[in-house]
Amino acid sequence: MNYWKKLLDLFYLVGSRYFIIAGIFFLIFYILFSAKFSNRRIQQKKHKNSDYLREIFYSILTIIIFSAVPVFFLTNNLTQPYTTIYKKISEYGWVYFVFIFPVMFILHDTYFYWCHRLMHHPKLFNLLHLTHHKSTNPSPWAAYSFHPLEALIESGIFIFFIFAFPVHPLHLLIFFLLMFIYNVYGHLGYELYPKNFHKTLIGKWINTSVAHNMHHQYFKGNYGLYFMFWDRMMGTLSQNYDQQFEKSTNTQNQQNTINEK
Ligand SMILES: [Zn+2]
Ligand SMILES: [Zn+2]
Repeated sequence: MNYWKKLLDLFYLVGSRYFIIAGIFFLIFYILFSAKFSNRRIQQKKHKNSDYLREIFYSILTIIIFSAVPVFFLTNNLTQPYTTIYKKISEYGWVYFVFIFPVMFILHDTYFYWCHRLMHHPKLFNLLHLTHHKSTNPSPWAAYSFHPLEALIESGIFIFFIFAFPVHPLHLLIFFLLMFIYNVYGHLGYELYPKNFHKTLIGKWINTSVAHNMHHQYFKGNYGLYFMFWDRMMGTLSQNYDQQFEKSTNTQNQQNTINEK
């Protein structure tokens, strides 16, 4: 019974996070101010309502999996005793508390990059990853639009975190909130970083909405989530990334004319 109550609580949390955050971005960029941000649009291809519905449908399945997997590992007697969750921040101190966040982002980016590349293997793609790629021009609702098996793989990072090193519940809460916001930005369809960001010392290593949008459009290249370390190191960054980033942030153009495919 404890399992079902906790499952329902987490389902509400993960679900409301999805609908509130994706909903706010959708309202701002697709309803209220879509004309104002038109020069920031990455692709001109129009979305259909059926795209939004498919993205929301698969996201709800993902929300169920992202609730069930953590609750399963945190409540059953076989795994729960081995988790590394701690209750008082003072146990490891504030320095550790803060320091672990960048570590979590780097680890998750690495996990995501390699799982993502693996799922692009021809033998795995149709089964695991095609659902996510049905959004060739993703919207904020696509952030969790995964096949249930892909959602299960993506939930692996949570499992890793709760067994690998000490984590406070606030680590998990804050990290997955920030993860989700960045994920929505990645699928936004609009670029938010300033012009020439991609050429700056920091911007060269930060993943952008343009990069992930290109991944959805062309089905290859740009496999990272938060960073470009792996893409640059493994030579998987799209060759025309700089050019597309410049087009999507060129405030001179009222209408971007990026390949609609
Ligand atoms: Zn992909
Ligand atoms: Zn995506």
